[in-house]
Amino acid sequence: MNLGIDIDNTITNTKETIYRYAQRFADRNGYSLNPDINEYRLEQSFGWDTELTRRFLKENLVDIYINVSPKPYAIETINRLYEKHRIVLITSRNERKAEIKNATLYWLKKHGLRYHKLIMNRTDNMFHFSKLTACLENKIDLMIEDHHDLCLEISHHIPVLMFDTPYNAHVKADNIIRVSSWLQVEELIQQFEHSTIHDDV
Ligand SMILES: [Mg+2]
Repeated sequence: MNLGIDIDNTITNTKETIYRYAQRFADRNGYSLNPDINEYRLEQSFGWDTELTRRFLKENLVDIYINVSPKPYAIETINRLYEKHRIVLITSRNERKAEIKNATLYWLKKHGLRYHKLIMNRTDNMFHFSKLTACLENKIDLMIEDHHDLCLEISHHIPVLMFDTPYNAHVKADNIIRVSSWLQVEELIQQFEHSTIHDDV
């Protein structure tokens, strides 16, 4: 199968790392911070304006991407899946910023993650990048993702395994299976594979 896999909050603990860096940034600069974990977008989650949020990301995002930890069993599981499936990493991280691309490649190498293809956002804005188009162009059979709207959009075309988070708790759809661990992902992919083979017979 062709497996599409998101990076942030799917392979990595990005939100938790952002909160940690944001707390340090707030303490250093005298801002208050009490993140709302039910909000995906940082401005809403932090209650900061766009300019302050931008400044925080400008100063910290590359370090966050370099230092973020993988979710439990993410690396081992994907490396096992790599033996049998085509692994396509699909991320909204912007490759037009060299330091973002380099940090991403550095992290993937440092953690020994095996993959066949990495697709990054090439547009000038993360909201102009279509993961659905990337999925369709690469004939993805199953997408693994955490973002509520992307999961919904993609699920109209292909099945989605959605990593459980507070900000996607409201999402419920036929073609979306909520997952909480990479070991569960591996089990479901095996089941999915068997049912697909069965359908073909
Ligand atoms: Mg994500």
